[in-house]
Amino acid sequence: MRVAGALLLVLGCEARSDPGPGRAAQVSTASDTGRPAAPKKSDERAAEREALFRSVEREAEVHDPRVLAALRRVPRHRFVPAPLSDRAYEDRPLPIGHDQTISQPTVVAVMTAAVAPASTDRCLEIGTGSGYQAAVLAELCARVYSIEYLAPLARFAEENLRGAGYLEDRVMLRTGDGYRGWPEAAPFHVIVVTAAPESVPKPLLSQLAAGGRLVIPVGPEGAVQELELWTRTGSGDGPNAFDRRTLMAVRFVPFLGEGR
Ligand code: SAH
Repeated sequence: MRVAGALLLVLGCEARSDPGPGRAAQVSTASDTGRPAAPKKSDERAAEREALFRSVEREAEVHDPRVLAALRRVPRHRFVPAPLSDRAYEDRPLPIGHDQTISQPTVVAVMTAAVAPASTDRCLEIGTGSGYQAAVLAELCARVYSIEYLAPLARFAEENLRGAGYLEDRVMLRTGDGYRGWPEAAPFHVIVVTAAPESVPKPLLSQLAAGGRLVIPVGPEGAVQELELWTRTGSGDGPNAFDRRTLMAVRFVPFLGEGR
């Protein structure tokens, strides 16, 4: 796998708290009859998504057809601040304000493929950010629970997810510190952490179902971190209950709150 950069720490761009008029009117589609069809959200900018994820498939060696289909369906341009909409299909992280970013598409693809979500799975995401990764999981799983630490971003994600049609039943959002997970909804078959703590929060490991997979960037702030995949292979919380693999070097924003 030839992947290096993930989430850059850059930024200084304000996240918009309203979706803005630019989002709704991105693309209009025409039916075979020549009459304008009611635009389906999954059709908006589909050609750009197709090109992006064909390249991601080749470069990052992500071949899971369900994951690729999900990535082709989710309108990433609806999850970036409106002024950056034109850049939504570049394989780059983009600023969403508050020193945070929407992850690079390659990284979302690698992380999602690593946890191999099944249609009956219950998923937990820590770090809702823009809501994009939650939408990708919602395409693949039965239910997605996602926690965001920063209240303005939690609102941004909620608006994006609602605008793209993901909030009706499958995605549950919470604002707060994801360190302790979401005990009332545990155990989870899939846990995706999109900010980097120095070590894996123990409550998240203990909320992993039998056979469940957790993907997480681990390492010090500002340095290169390792993307780790943990699989529950036994009961209890001891080191023998998990298989741990390192996937690749990444750079994520730091985990805030208790895990800091
Ligand atoms: N998954 C997001 C990526 C967002 S970047 C997306 O698809 O857009 C990481 C996010 O994790 C940021 O929004 C940050 O505020 C959030 N975060 C950091 N520490 C957290 C914590 N302890 N609990 C919940 N969210 C956290």
